[in-house]
Amino acid sequence: MSNRTYQSGAAKRKKAAKAKEDISKYLPLTSFLLVQKSKPVVSEDVFLCPTSNFVSIDSALLPNETLEIQQELEPEQEPEPEQEPEPEQESEPAQVPEPVQEPEPAQEPESNQIKTYPNATTKTTQETDPALWHQLSQEAQSFWISNGPSMCQNNDGSFKNSERLSCGQKRYLSKSCFRRELHNGEFVNREWLLYSPSTGSVFCFACTLFSSKHSNFSTTGFDDWKNALKCISGHENGSEHHKNMLTYSSRQRESGQLDSVLIKQLHNEQLYWQNVLKRIVAVVKFLSSRGLPFRGNNETIGSEQNGNYFGTLELLSQFDPFLHEHMKKHGNSGKGNTSYLSANICEEFICLMGNKVLSEIISELKKAKYYSISVDSTPDLSHVDQLTFTVRYVKDLAPVERFLQFVPIQGHGAEHLETVVLNFLQENEISISDCRGQSYDNASNMAGHVAGCCLEAIIFFDFVQCLYNFFSASTHRWQVLLSFVGKGKKIVKQLSGTRWSARADAVTCLHDSYDEIKKALEFLIKDISQPKETQNDAQNLITKMNTFEIVFLTIFWNDILCHFNETSKILQKENLYLDVAVRILKSLLHFIKDLRSQFENYQEKAKILLPNTDYRDSSKRAKKRSRRMAFFDGEAEELEFQGSYKFKIETYLPVIDSLTSNLEKRTSAYEKINDNFGFLVNIQTIANVELKDHCSNLAQIYKKDINENELFFECQQFKYYISKDEHSFTEFYSTLKRDHLESTFPNIEISLRIFLSMMVSNCTGERSFSKLKLIKNELRSTMLQERLNCLSLMSIESDVLLTIDFDDVIKEFSRKKSRKRHM
Ligand SMILES: [Zn+2]
Repeated sequence: MSNRTYQSGAAKRKKAAKAKEDISKYLPLTSFLLVQKSKPVVSEDVFLCPTSNFVSIDSALLPNETLEIQQELEPEQEPEPEQEPEPEQESEPAQVPEPVQEPEPAQEPESNQIKTYPNATTKTTQETDPALWHQLSQEAQSFWISNGPSMCQNNDGSFKNSERLSCGQKRYLSKSCFRRELHNGEFVNREWLLYSPSTGSVFCFACTLFSSKHSNFSTTGFDDWKNALKCISGHENGSEHHKNMLTYSSRQRESGQLDSVLIKQLHNEQLYWQNVLKRIVAVVKFLSSRGLPFRGNNETIGSEQNGNYFGTLELLSQFDPFLHEHMKKHGNSGKGNTSYLSANICEEFICLMGNKVLSEIISELKKAKYYSISVDSTPDLSHVDQLTFTVRYVKDLAPVERFLQFVPIQGHGAEHLETVVLNFLQENEISISDCRGQSYDNASNMAGHVAGCCLEAIIFFDFVQCLYNFFSASTHRWQVLLSFVGKGKKIVKQLSGTRWSARADAVTCLHDSYDEIKKALEFLIKDISQPKETQNDAQNLITKMNTFEIVFLTIFWNDILCHFNETSKILQKENLYLDVAVRILKSLLHFIKDLRSQFENYQEKAKILLPNTDYRDSSKRAKKRSRRMAFFDGEAEELEFQGSYKFKIETYLPVIDSLTSNLEKRTSAYEKINDNFGFLVNIQTIANVELKDHCSNLAQIYKKDINENELFFECQQFKYYISKDEHSFTEFYSTLKRDHLESTFPNIEISLRIFLSMMVSNCTGERSFSKLKLIKNELRSTMLQERLNCLSLMSIESDVLLTIDFDDVIKEFSRKKSRKRHM
């Protein structure tokens, strides 16, 4: 108990009560300041602590803390109005409502903040209609002196009430009365002239405040519009007006001096908090760009379990005297204190900064105009299906793909996805009409979909996963595996469901080291030092490895995945040639189609790897000769080769068909794009007749974006402009941009921009999935969606994050902060 660093609730209440009691002992400061007694309006949420200079409700809980910062910060702020109780000080408005020098007005240095004022303490004093200023109270007078006339001029609205009949003619106050023409023809504003909306007449600011004489401009209001300009300028040059203006000016100067001290003090405080926040932003930037977790088990500075956020701050403070001092003072000061070091502030900044990154990306996207979207989904650790939402657009010279956010989804139906996407676009005011491509099914997931197309395939990939889980669960098992497989060979620890290159690697490894892996498992079974459980698991895995289906599928999938992996790598290349992509996809398609007749080959290969086994459901006796017999001899022994036949019909062919249809879909998409845009790359070799057809075709598709004749015209020139070494869309586009030829070839520029915005290759989706795994890991599975999105965004698009200057965020935050403490 004795070592706690903050006060107990009881102690705080006691302290607050004591403070209140103390206030009552003192005479209100107004009694010193005011010549004329007026009721001091004491704000309810402000009470006085005689020793402290800033006391507000939140700091009252920790008076020592607040006081300390203040004194630390601004030694020069000490000579405060408190020790200048001369009667002139009455002009300082805030003095009046609050017995201590609460720096209220300093928060409103700009006098146009009238709207915030009515909530403040002096409810009755800020009437902006000068006609209602009869017997202005002392504090109201002080208020207007320090704030000036701009808040009560009322000259920007209509002058409806100023309608007057003179000589049977309706006349109104004219706005020109508020300006005075000088001899040289220049105009100056008549700052002193006030319009009263209630009476429709005008008043003089200075005379209303200070004149003891009765006049139209000070008491009743002037409304003779026929002679307005003459009378107003007459009043302006009168001696009484001059005297009052001088009084006003000297009184204002006095209050202005006072304000400037307070403003400076406020400014210093803002600076202090800005400095603290700069460091916090830097830490948030650092941790989030690397996808590191923030929090630890506690928030105690000095503890080793306080997580990366506090740990990094501590590390920084070792070399940064400012942060060191700040942390020393405010480090462990408990809840309710305003040290800015708490996890809450950190969370707030994560959101602010994440949103800023998002808005940066969205503004880039809007600038690029054309974009395409891609959505894909993957389940996260808490079994929520997360939809990744990525966009692609052209930035500067090349296309970029950016992750936007994860959206938790309930279903995979196209309609549901569409709603989610449209809502997002609408929320962020992105026009759907500029979208030039949508992809709801990534290449990366194709294998996944296909793998799930039949039971045997699911069992197979499930087995691969189990195998790797088994070995990677313990370092000992991993070492055993390594010693059998041999160090030089590729071994994949984690079989990611999203990166299918990892899947290909895992299957390749299994394929290449089938026997070695089996030996490693056998070794573990015989190892009596292993727990019974491990031995059982190893035994189960061996049993599976000894089934014919697993062996068959290992060989089969290894072939398929190797080919797919290579193709996928080519498709993900940045400088992808469309015609190359089409050719590669077509060749892959041929390869897959050819597999239909390769069933026996795979069966042979499996047989070599696992000589004495057969399909699970074949009888042991039948298996020995049946299959070969079946295929060469026909129907006679049909029943006996049921296993083989069944496997071919239910597993082998469905996998091939599924792959084929997926590939065809994808190839045709590429072909279509190639048909539309491909001519641009070959522009140098295409004859004009053909070129014209291509141009009109493209213009037909993008009617709103491209003009057919102009495009053809531009192409005819462009083909001679482009050099022979340039072959890709990206090269064309960057040449065009580099040479500032957008205005010479506008239609070509647009065509290229549209093409480059399309999701031809895809890697961002995969990238975001792996970040999702990293960020929402086992330790942080309860993370809220907003936080997840902000962290993912900052981590995935860390290049954007690192270029953003968060000064405005910091300034806004510290401004709010230093205000809050004074309220
Ligand atoms: Zn006047």
